[in-house]
Amino acid sequence: MRCPSCDHPEDRVIDSRPLESSSVIRRRRLCVYCGKRFTTYERVESTPLMVIKSDNRREPFNRAKMREGVQRACEKRPISPASVEKLISEVEYDLQDFVLEVPSSDIGDRLLKKLLDLDPVAYVRFASVYRQFKDLDDFYHELTKVKRKSEARKV
Ligand SMILES: [Zn+2]
Repeated sequence: MRCPSCDHPEDRVIDSRPLESSSVIRRRRLCVYCGKRFTTYERVESTPLMVIKSDNRREPFNRAKMREGVQRACEKRPISPASVEKLISEVEYDLQDFVLEVPSSDIGDRLLKKLLDLDPVAYVRFASVYRQFKDLDDFYHELTKVKRKSEARKV
């Protein structure tokens, strides 16, 4: 596991405990180089979480695929890889509420909520792919909503 602050490849595990569902293990790690602490979540491979797609097909949860979608939305935005990783880990952590299956719409909504806090442009990009706006009005409506929210935050 590379340190999210300095990218050093070595760390020391300082605490390790299973979460409630016990198929996810939370580890506190300490970078041996810069001393920064960070947390990782590991899902036990024998119990893969299944994702229910919109057409009702199931496929195993794929962290890399989720990261890919988020990274694409964050392209050329002032967002560090560590923030993307943190967002992914937080959503994955939340998914432990689901033991066997989770609707893909649920994952999408969680990612959108986090992206809105992180970067309005990344949010709209992700939403445009994920929500598949019906028409320009629909898209404009979403933009206005985001604009209002990000302005409210500045005050
Ligand atoms: Zn470090």
